[in-house]
Amino acid sequence: MDVTSGVARRIDHLGRIVVPVELRRLFGIEPGDELEISVRDGAIALVKVETRCVFCNSDQGLVAFRGKRVCGGCAGELSGDRWSPGEGAPVGTPGAAMTDDVAG
Ligand SMILES: [Zn+2]
Repeated sequence: MDVTSGVARRIDHLGRIVVPVELRRLFGIEPGDELEISVRDGAIALVKVETRCVFCNSDQGLVAFRGKRVCGGCAGELSGDRWSPGEGAPVGTPGAAMTDDVAG
């Protein structure tokens, strides 16, 4: 992937910036999508948060799995046995509480 040369964007009085449309297209970022904001190597990184199961595209009962979102059904198949959403996310997945905001 090419590294896009810097695009200057001014932060507004609420601390917001507009992500350039070229980058939104490149990363498949749509209105309503979530971006995870973190600091990497002294720079601010924006990473698209997947809001649908990467396997079946379901938006029900998602859990984080190695940086991707996976529905309960697919997570059960991944782990090789039944897994119920009530038991929480599989061990070792960052952002295990990310299911809160996907219902609506
Ligand atoms: Zn799934």
